Amino acid sequence: MRNGLDPPVANIFLDKLESDVLTTSPRAHFIRAWMRYVDDVVCIWCGSINEAPLFLQELNSYDPGIKFTIEIGGNTLSFVDLKLSLADHGNILKIAFGIHRKDTFSGVSIHRDSLHHPTHKAAAINAAIHRLTNLPLTPEATEEEIRYIEKIAEINGLRLDIRQLIRRKQLRQILASPNTNQVGTKVKWIRLPFLGRLSLRLASELRRFNYRVRFYPISTLGTLSKLKDPSTQEEQSGIYRIDCGECDAFYIGQTGRSLATRFKEHKTKATAVSSHCHSAGHDLNKISTTLIHSLSKGGTMNALEEAETVKSHCDEQLNDLRATFIHHFTRFFYNFHT
Ligand SMILES: [Zn+2]
Repeated sequence: MRNGLDPPVANIFLDKLESDVLTTSPRAHFIRAWMRYVDDVVCIWCGSINEAPLFLQELNSYDPGIKFTIEIGGNTLSFVDLKLSLADHGNILKIAFGIHRKDTFSGVSIHRDSLHHPTHKAAAINAAIHRLTNLPLTPEATEEEIRYIEKIAEINGLRLDIRQLIRRKQLRQILASPNTNQVGTKVKWIRLPFLGRLSLRLASELRRFNYRVRFYPISTLGTLSKLKDPSTQEEQSGIYRIDCGECDAFYIGQTGRSLATRFKEHKTKATAVSSHCHSAGHDLNKISTTLIHSLSKGGTMNALEEAETVKSHCDEQLNDLRATFIHHFTRFFYNFHT
């Protein structure tokens, strides 16, 4: 099943199929419970086991485009991420819940040593704890699941007291009431790259001003491996610096094309560099360029150009700062400090 319209359409179709088959089938009275998640159905069948395949035939004759398969679980069955066990208490059928994981589940998530925000590293653990505290698991299943979460933490090098985290979560759930949610003060969210400890401090500072920060990792597979690596600096794109050959004036810029092409433009077209040389009477042929960061077009390029411009700012810089700043936060801090 793909994304987009497919899931809702499939849901509408299966909904119709259910209401037709379950109301007309002569075997419908054998069904004690019928629960569906998208195209996965769990059914508690009280008829003879020989009747079940006949009911499957009825389902499959509804539309040639849809084919159900059957898995007879006896008293236990796994459904989505749940392990269901059925027990007969007098005349009442009771379902006991456990957690089901596929055999291929390895528990590998983000390792402790990886440069990710701590919340990303704890996400797999927190999701598992959330599920554990929100499902009516049996005491045995709870204990088994706690041990499993501890194993996931260990695999990923996370030193966490899982049992304490669970107690805290349960306490928060008890204390939480609809009234405790802040009304009136609007929380604003910002997305920033995660750069280690400094980012954590920045986030706690921003929190005082009602900003919540969500971090994204700066190293992805795409940035770690470059499939195309042009050999010379002139062929690459990125953030560059141009120095005047006759004074200390310099310019920092970015180019998505090759450095050579952009450098040539600074000599032939009207730019901050060429206008400096013309007005100061400095030789345009003596300007030189260096590539500071090699990267292809994108948001990172703007951020780096901005960072390099701010970092090296001095009176000799030819950049027009009003045109350079992209991020209002940087401008704010920059104006604040100068
Ligand atoms: Zn100059």
